Amino acid sequence: MSDCLFCKIAAGEIPCDKVYEDDDVLAFHDIRPIAPVHFLLIPKQHVASLSDCGPEHEAMLGRLLARVPQLAREQGLAAGFKTGINTGRAGGQEVYHLHIHVFGHKV
Ligand SMILES: [Zn+2]
Ligand SMILES: [Zn+2]
Repeated sequence: MSDCLFCKIAAGEIPCDKVYEDDDVLAFHDIRPIAPVHFLLIPKQHVASLSDCGPEHEAMLGRLLARVPQLAREQGLAAGFKTGINTGRAGGQEVYHLHIHVFGHKV
């Protein structure tokens, strides 16, 4: 989607502090971190929110979530971390491109 902030980041049109990238997934540090380590994983394919996902998104959701442990370890969160997916207005979603928040403290 042309007016989507995260699509522009995924396309390289807007810079990000990149954590990881492959053909399907991009991870980058949150610009407004709420913890010492706080990054986001997004699918490069535009999906507005978890509410818009169904069985056809299983593979994409699996790829996103399965990538979290490795990236969390690399970012110093081997002892544990939190994950969050804000969904919809009442769920506190701010950018309408599906993303997983990963955050925690290095120990
Ligand atoms: Zn998007
Ligand atoms: Zn968010």
